[in-house]
Amino acid sequence: MTPMPKLLQLELILFAILGGCALVQQQIEIQAQSKNPPLPSAAVKAKPVTVPSKLPSRITPAASLKPAPGKATVTALDPVFVGAGDIAECSKPEDELTAQLIDKIPGTVFTAGDDAYPNGTTEDFQKCYDPTWGRFKARTYPTPGNHEYNSPNGDPYYAYFGSRAGAVGKGYYSYDLGEWHVVALNSNIDAQTGSEQERWLKADLAAHPKACTLAYWHHPVFSSGLHGNNPKMKDIWQTLYDAGVDVVVNGHDHQYERFAAQNPEGKAEPKRGIREFVVGTGGAELRELASLRPNSEVQNTATYGVIKFVLQPKSYSWQFIPIPGKTFTDKGTQACVSTS
Ligand SMILES: [Zn+2]
Repeated sequence: MTPMPKLLQLELILFAILGGCALVQQQIEIQAQSKNPPLPSAAVKAKPVTVPSKLPSRITPAASLKPAPGKATVTALDPVFVGAGDIAECSKPEDELTAQLIDKIPGTVFTAGDDAYPNGTTEDFQKCYDPTWGRFKARTYPTPGNHEYNSPNGDPYYAYFGSRAGAVGKGYYSYDLGEWHVVALNSNIDAQTGSEQERWLKADLAAHPKACTLAYWHHPVFSSGLHGNNPKMKDIWQTLYDAGVDVVVNGHDHQYERFAAQNPEGKAEPKRGIREFVVGTGGAELRELASLRPNSEVQNTATYGVIKFVLQPKSYSWQFIPIPGKTFTDKGTQACVSTS
């Protein structure tokens, strides 16, 4: 074996000390491909970092990778938030097809409830949900639906997702994604003004005054579907609206629907209203609409798929992604309430 040049040895030690195992490998590869003498350290350090294709959504990008001021705000490093509601039924294949969409989409996965049919039992989660969307469990932030609560207190749901589902029996929690605050709520428990959940939400929003906020849960306040408008979370809507929240995502009605920005009374308010999406398209049987509600901008009742949000620092983009063989899509971009 040829002895290693001293300069190369020193570089390797230096990189190892700095924890730069990947750089060492990179350097070795550079050396292997080149007949030239080892590159000077400075040249190696200046080499641009290759961004992994599956960058975890919570990693803060290096300053050098942020877009320059004035340039386009959409970058590969903005957090991605993808999911749907009404997902896993053992008797149907579409939950696997929507899971295959998410296979190709790095980022945070959400569920908008009715995750495991028919009753959210331990068996429903293990046999129906786990083989499909369960493979994203490590990057999933779920919410429960009424089908999870067909099991007493939703206990198997909390057991399956563990601490990721929030406190057992409560199921509401929040987290940050990039510049966004994200709130997961539970529409199966008390949500009136003054309830424990509503008081928690008010305090949580006050403690996280981000420019942009998204909230999600199962039962929509506004829906043109068979279940229709459901006032159960209307007080929550008021609390969200008062705090300038931007986006609400729900399931329960098995359709895709996008509303214009509205206030809690359902009146259009383009500047400060909340835009609601109903995305009950994760795999459960799709259903027709019942009655078209005011400010409903887009509806589709024939396409399974997921919604993908890109959470930019002061705006968001959405895109409905259909399963293979389907063409319906919906996409757009909007500035956050506090910045428009
Ligand atoms: Zn439901």
